[in-house]
Amino acid sequence: MSTVPAGFRQLKDQQIQPYLHETIVVPDELQSNVLVTTLDKVYNWSRKSSMWPLLFGLACCAIEMIATAASRYDLSRFGMEVMRPSPRQSDLMIVSGTVTKKMVPAIVRIYNQMAEPRYVLSMGACATGGGPFKEGYNVVSGIDKYIPVDVYVPGCPPTPEALMYGILKLHEKVERQSITTVAWYRKDQSEFVPVPRLGPDIFDPRQVELIKEHTLKAAAAPEAGQKKRSAEAAGGAASEGPREISSKAKQRMEEARRRHQAKQQA
Ligand code: SF4
Repeated sequence: MSTVPAGFRQLKDQQIQPYLHETIVVPDELQSNVLVTTLDKVYNWSRKSSMWPLLFGLACCAIEMIATAASRYDLSRFGMEVMRPSPRQSDLMIVSGTVTKKMVPAIVRIYNQMAEPRYVLSMGACATGGGPFKEGYNVVSGIDKYIPVDVYVPGCPPTPEALMYGILKLHEKVERQSITTVAWYRKDQSEFVPVPRLGPDIFDPRQVELIKEHTLKAAAAPEAGQKKRSAEAAGGAASEGPREISSKAKQRMEEARRRHQAKQQA
């Protein structure tokens, strides 16, 4: 007498369906023992089934993330219950909360320390675009300006259900990747992201040449800017341009201009 419960065969067939190879047919007598699939499907299935998130939170959204991991919602059903305290052991960075300018360099540094394959999920309005603090003096308008984001979850805060939906979407993205084309197995394609610098304002070191060019242009023609501001003041319009720079700053810019010119002549 068979000990296999009724419906077990049907359930098993349904579960293995997504992993079967479409073009190779296994003979009926081998159906119970042989499963033909592709390397991509096995590889992606194993990666999506044990995607360990990085243990960090930035603001209120983090509370929802914690609730998602707790027993009511249970992230362990996706093999994600182990939130890692080390970027080296993490596959997924969930940016949950308000991203301040002070925090961006740390986030980018942590992202750079994560080993490939790595993914980023932007959770909530703040992480995605600044949220209620958009254009505040200390908040950046979205973490995607600094690191590549794979999935955005809207909301303020997103519910645990919304986060889980975002995770499922990320799983779908993983399933579509192929071992033959992914960046981390190709030479020179997995890039180190430059860590932004926190100065008077945060800036991206990749834009440093552009910033330098604008600064030098302004330093080379300070009278033009001054004339414009004087005209604005005379016309009664509120001056929205930059304020008069100090003599110390002018001196620094003059030195930078000289260094730049010397470098170009060399
Ligand atoms: S999106 Fe809303 S809940 Fe999330 S960190 Fe920003 S303010 Fe808080």
